[in-house]
Amino acid sequence: MIETGQTRGFYAQGALVAVLTAQPLDRFLDYKAPEGGVMQGAYVEVPLGPRKVLGVVWGAGEGKFDPAKIRKISNVLDVAPMREEMQIFLQKVADYTLTPMTAMLRLATRAPGLTNPPSMQRVVALGSGQPDRMTPAREKVLAVLEEQEGQHFMPSELAQMAGVTPSVIKGLVKQGVIVELETPRDVPYPKLDPSLPSKTLTPSQASAATQLQAHLQTGAYQTTLLKGVTGSGKTEVYLEAVAECLRQGRQALVLLPEIALTVEFLDRFETRFGRRPAEWHSGVTMTERRRCWRMVGQGDAQVVVGARSSLYLPFQNLGLIIVDEEHDTSYKQEDGVFYSARDMAVMRASICGASVVLASATPSLETWVNAKAGKYTRIDLEKRFGAAELPDMCAIDLREDALETGRWISSTLVSQVNARLELGEQSLLFLNRRGYAPLTVCRACGEQVGCDHCDARMVEHRFHAHLMCHQCGETKPIPEKCPSCGVEGRMAAVGPGVERLAEEAADRFPDARISVLSSDMSLSARALKSRIAEIANGEADIIIGTQLVAKGHNFPLLTCVGVIDCDLGLQGGDLRAAERTFQLIRQVAGRAGRAEKKGVAYLQTHQPEHPVIKAIIAGEEDEFWQAEAASREQAGVPPYGRMAGIVITGPELSVVSNVAQHLVRTSIGLRQIGAEVYGPAPAPIARVRGKHRIRLLVKAPKGVMLQPALAAWRAGIRLPNNVRMNIDIDPQSF
Ligand code: ADP
Ligand code: ZN
Repeated sequence: MIETGQTRGFYAQGALVAVLTAQPLDRFLDYKAPEGGVMQGAYVEVPLGPRKVLGVVWGAGEGKFDPAKIRKISNVLDVAPMREEMQIFLQKVADYTLTPMTAMLRLATRAPGLTNPPSMQRVVALGSGQPDRMTPAREKVLAVLEEQEGQHFMPSELAQMAGVTPSVIKGLVKQGVIVELETPRDVPYPKLDPSLPSKTLTPSQASAATQLQAHLQTGAYQTTLLKGVTGSGKTEVYLEAVAECLRQGRQALVLLPEIALTVEFLDRFETRFGRRPAEWHSGVTMTERRRCWRMVGQGDAQVVVGARSSLYLPFQNLGLIIVDEEHDTSYKQEDGVFYSARDMAVMRASICGASVVLASATPSLETWVNAKAGKYTRIDLEKRFGAAELPDMCAIDLREDALETGRWISSTLVSQVNARLELGEQSLLFLNRRGYAPLTVCRACGEQVGCDHCDARMVEHRFHAHLMCHQCGETKPIPEKCPSCGVEGRMAAVGPGVERLAEEAADRFPDARISVLSSDMSLSARALKSRIAEIANGEADIIIGTQLVAKGHNFPLLTCVGVIDCDLGLQGGDLRAAERTFQLIRQVAGRAGRAEKKGVAYLQTHQPEHPVIKAIIAGEEDEFWQAEAASREQAGVPPYGRMAGIVITGPELSVVSNVAQHLVRTSIGLRQIGAEVYGPAPAPIARVRGKHRIRLLVKAPKGVMLQPALAAWRAGIRLPNNVRMNIDIDPQSF
């Protein structure tokens, strides 16, 4: 339907056009062009039944409907039309991920108020008045306003974010604590200035920056892996690529995996370019989201820093996409549309002739392989910036240095931490397990408390004084008597979580100042930022953390990292386990010794001879990837083969399992093209939120076009009510 390379279609009044809506219909609808005609790509409102809905003029109508019944487009919106490259991109993502186009349009129009754009809006912001008295509800509102300092909210949105009724907002407005303002909507973002001075780059940083800039100057698509140890200055380097992109007058997108990181990042960005970029992620208010969407679309937002969904913003002139920490698993969306933001970034750039920079200290195996094969350029930053050196790595063999019962810090690690305390240096104890204890067990009958809705154990969280399921979020009080045998006082916490590790550290190092950084402590972005700043300023001696600390932060006084359980990620049959463990431990170890002082990382393990642990300690990265790649190639799995996960879910196990077996029987078409179907087997988590999950894995050699065959197969399947089927191309676990 899209004709590339030709002038875009213009449809005169009355002409038949195909409109894509975001309604849950798996097809385009025909309409007649309104008075004045309409452009291909125009955002429009069309009548659908009794309603009017948002749509995009996709191309010429197909004439499949009765001409007498075809209605007219009601309204052409005052928004820059969708560019053709965006149409192509959405279509390609849809084809690759087997997603209906209507769902793609929902992703691409996730901004409020597109159909109703008055130029002024009523918003509220923090005022100067004092409330006559404080109530818990008022406190919540003020906390949100302080948290998002300087931001404007729609009154209803503020009420929703604070979890209070709109009357609380009205009360605060009456007292002048909150003021109402009429502000113009959708003002352009302030201009960024690439000519402000950058840091003085080291020769290797400068050469990396020059290479990236040279790619941009070609104006052609290119992907570069920017590989450099943590602290080598990757961010400084890619900011210079952003500067070049700005000088060319093109737009840039910086994808970051974790919202927590953006705070630190935004400050650095502002230092370099004088102003902050536009932001797009779940923490951004509705008014700001709307502004971002529109300004990106009319070219008045030069740089967007955002989460994975910012890939679907309507850029007019996209020149550069940075994917920072490209190996991060949060780039894979497994909800609604299943896609990898890293892979789709490459796809988007290849359509519009942009450069992509994939930055990481520990790239994904896929990226490593693509670089090795010459599909991506690879630039290495070998050394840390300044005097900083990479930490030494040592294994602590727990078979020799055995742990005391109920304790998780070995005597070697205790003495190392004590040595740092004497020197006034910091230590980090890393355990990738949230909460207090992963298991709650009855000492009388052995019962383990599980979630009622999922195939998962309830994790004790002492900080919040409850048990929680990490799959569905369900909480229960910590039981006093066993839910199974009824015996009282015998319930025990088994195994370590960060909270328990913090307890042990407090006991072993009574004079040390301990700071815990874990994603489940409900720290707001601002509280997290200030805690990180405190640590960086030396206001803590021991940092206890989960995966949250593995990312990005600079702690100059940190010289000792203890990885409490190195073996944690190596259990379980997942083929990616080795890769993940390798990445995570390298990242955490990379926190140590970022300033003048050299750091050491101690890895507590029961299997120091495990190839992954050995590779980490020896620092043999390319050897490790080589071996990993070889084993994947032998197994014929991604990136050497194609794979799709088919997950069937439903409330009744027997029904779900019958459907799965039926699916296998009807998969002849897949086998005919050379694919193999494995399963049915329970999905990695067999029950979530009361729904059973059974999975099939479809594997095919690289040359096989899996998607069309999967689509044809799916089209012939009638699922019973209540049963759902998701197709996940390139699943994370296999
Ligand atoms: P990475 O992104 O590779 O982890 P960063 O870009 O964050 O590395 O750099 C690590 C630290 O070193 C940052 O505080 C950064 O400002 C500093 N830094 C890196 N390169 C330079 C430079 N050329 N001049 C001054 N400071 C630098
Ligand atoms: Zn659950």
